[in-house]
Amino acid sequence: MQDERKTPEMRTQMTDIERLRHSASHVLATAILKIWPEAQFAAGPPVENGFYYDVDLPHRISPDDFEKIEAEMKKEIKANHPFERIEVSRDEALDLGKKGRLAALSERSDPSKFKLDIIENIPPDEKISLYRSGDFIDLCAGPHVMRTGNIGAFKLTNVASAYYKGDEKNPQLQRIYGTAFKTKKELDDYFAMLEEAKKRDHRKLGKELEIFVFDDDVGPGLPMFLPRGAVIAEELEKLAKETEFAAGYQRVRTPHIARESLYKKSGHLPYYAESMFPPMELEDKLPSLSRPAGCEPAEEEAEQDARPPSQAGSLTSDRYYLKAMNCPHHHKLFAAVPRSYRDLPLRFAEYGTCYRYEKSGELFGLMRVRSLQMNDAHLYMTPEQFEAEFNAVNEMYLNYFKLFGIDKYLMRFSTHDPAKLGQKFVDEPELWKQTEEMTRNVLKNSGINYVEVPNEAAFYGPKIDVQAWSVIGREFSIATNQVDFSQPRNFDLRYKDRDNVDKIPICIHRAPLGTHERFIGFLIEHYAGNFPLWLSPEQVRILTIGDDSKLMDYARSILRELRAHQVRAEIDESNDKINGKIQRAEQMHTMFVIGKRDMEADAVSVRIHGKGNLGPKKKDEAMAEILKAIKERRA
Ligand SMILES: [Zn+2]
Ligand SMILES: [Zn+2]
Repeated sequence: MQDERKTPEMRTQMTDIERLRHSASHVLATAILKIWPEAQFAAGPPVENGFYYDVDLPHRISPDDFEKIEAEMKKEIKANHPFERIEVSRDEALDLGKKGRLAALSERSDPSKFKLDIIENIPPDEKISLYRSGDFIDLCAGPHVMRTGNIGAFKLTNVASAYYKGDEKNPQLQRIYGTAFKTKKELDDYFAMLEEAKKRDHRKLGKELEIFVFDDDVGPGLPMFLPRGAVIAEELEKLAKETEFAAGYQRVRTPHIARESLYKKSGHLPYYAESMFPPMELEDKLPSLSRPAGCEPAEEEAEQDARPPSQAGSLTSDRYYLKAMNCPHHHKLFAAVPRSYRDLPLRFAEYGTCYRYEKSGELFGLMRVRSLQMNDAHLYMTPEQFEAEFNAVNEMYLNYFKLFGIDKYLMRFSTHDPAKLGQKFVDEPELWKQTEEMTRNVLKNSGINYVEVPNEAAFYGPKIDVQAWSVIGREFSIATNQVDFSQPRNFDLRYKDRDNVDKIPICIHRAPLGTHERFIGFLIEHYAGNFPLWLSPEQVRILTIGDDSKLMDYARSILRELRAHQVRAEIDESNDKINGKIQRAEQMHTMFVIGKRDMEADAVSVRIHGKGNLGPKKKDEAMAEILKAIKERRA
């Protein structure tokens, strides 16, 4: 919950920018009190990208008031008051609260009602402190910056309403948001990034570029890819196939649904039930003997009638679920054939489609959806093979980042919380310890940048979430890499070891390209719709100067040749002037502009997005260059 009280320990971990922003919230409250002395304040924490303060005030604050408030804030910052910490007893704090002196500039006739309530909720063994800056005194555990003048640059951003402590039974407050930075430049860069992000919003660009759509009759959270989006998905899939093939993966294919028993075995039921679509209840005849494919219906009936009456007639009810993850199916494939240590590591890959029941309020463009096509694979290995396999997976992530020009990323190593064994995490304390230790060692030895985050593991093992930042600094959580010691047990997966004894393999779940949905959403914003050649829905547009029939024939012969080499090319057959055609092809990666002189020289004039006119080139040469750039997936 967002209004959860920060422990003293969490407070000491507040970053510099969080201290600065929290200090700005005190300055905000000071400014509001200068204008409206009756204001009553609740909580004023730093949040991602800024800070807020919740205030109870008869006047409804609107963005029109921001200038006035900001002017008062500037005075406070200019005065450069020190932030002074004062420790008080509980009684002293309560007394000040009753006098209205908390989150106030002076004593007031009305008590500081929210602050009094907050004092009541401070654990008895925790010290109570106040922070003073100028006349303003607030109940606050800190920490703060040294002086108000340390707040280099700030801006109020918006106002919303929020219930006290997030509970709708409590009074509704006005939440004033702002952001603050050390320098004016950082503040300006931040707003420039927001502006750019708005322009690149994948929902807006996705529509303009005809990449994907949602449709009410299909359902919320169920994106459909138009041809241009399908091209990108297929190119990503091709990349995954080639990369995984080279890394010794094998492809498998599995259905989109499975019986309830599968998910009970995997433990997804009941742990994960809320995130799955409700089950389909089927009334089914008892499982019959498997028949060869291609049987005629008439034969089937005859066969059924031939079975004993007790078997042919009885009905059984059965539940099926849409699959929310591919692992259980893959585990079944592992178990389908006797395995020996010689078969390991075994790596099953599938761009599997999964369905997850995200709450409708949480759906967001391609980022949070209900149907997802995942770059999934499950690797089964002996403990001795773990380090090499895990490293190879990380290596694959890094290679993809390089390919897509993702320079900033962070691996978050999520571990379990021993207090939540049996609830949030499978109750295997020893295995948790072992696997986490093993994973931590591999991460340390490989020198990858990572942070360890407790209490965020998957329920069956530790995981690594990969956060990436697009070129404009937008953050995305795009991929996970999970170690699993629990599911192979649940599925009774075994291999015969060297000593001919049955052993349980370790499993790694990984999806470096995440899902098509989220990854394409990310790429749209990352590239602002200007995809590299290999990903471009239309790679080459052929434009002729004039529409002389010989010239058009030449252009069409080039089109045929490009398409024969699987290049996505189009020809502008309109009789517009060349400038109009060029303008319309603005978003295209490459243009072949062809005039009469080009035709006579068996050449084309090449224009590349962002590089402009590269001049005429021999047709064969231009063709070879295009093919090479695509093959190398050049940026
Ligand atoms: Zn404070
Ligand atoms: Zn999995």
